[in-house]
Amino acid sequence: MELTILPLKFANDQLLKDLLFRLRFVFEKVEVININIDIEHTYSAQRRQFYSTKIIESVKTLNPVPEGFVLILTDMDLFVPVLTHIYGEAEYNGRYSVVSVCRLHEEFYTSESNNSLLLERSYKEIVHELGHNVGLKHCKDWTCVMHSSSGIEEVDIKGNLFCNVCHGLAKDKGFVL
Ligand SMILES: [Zn+2]
Ligand SMILES: [Zn+2]
Repeated sequence: MELTILPLKFANDQLLKDLLFRLRFVFEKVEVININIDIEHTYSAQRRQFYSTKIIESVKTLNPVPEGFVLILTDMDLFVPVLTHIYGEAEYNGRYSVVSVCRLHEEFYTSESNNSLLLERSYKEIVHELGHNVGLKHCKDWTCVMHSSSGIEEVDIKGNLFCNVCHGLAKDKGFVL
């Protein structure tokens, strides 16, 4: 499997480097492409957040089309209309996903910064969204990275691997974690 990461309003070079190091154990090829697209129309001034579905739609118009699975990585706070916030969104059985690290920072909740926790949370949310890309739904097993997370505690509690069931389903699509 190939993965293309598109940083979009994303300024944390060290986190990107650390994520690349980990994701290269999972994917045959991981590439980073810097893009410059206008996403102002995805911003809600009322919510002070960006509408993730519209960001994915905008990125899908990129030419040339990026290869493999395409992950947009951003610092922007994301929403979909029915939820107060989301950590990420992915197309089921598609190629595109977006993950925001905005609410994965420990300093969003406490005054303390914790880089290793930020890396672990970001890694989990990325493989979770990529799991949706290969058709995985939410899983009830807390050890499984496909468990849903609406709050940061849930991101921390769940594991960073697939459970046996999700592992089997993902493996059929070439995604081995
Ligand atoms: Zn999910
Ligand atoms: Zn599972």
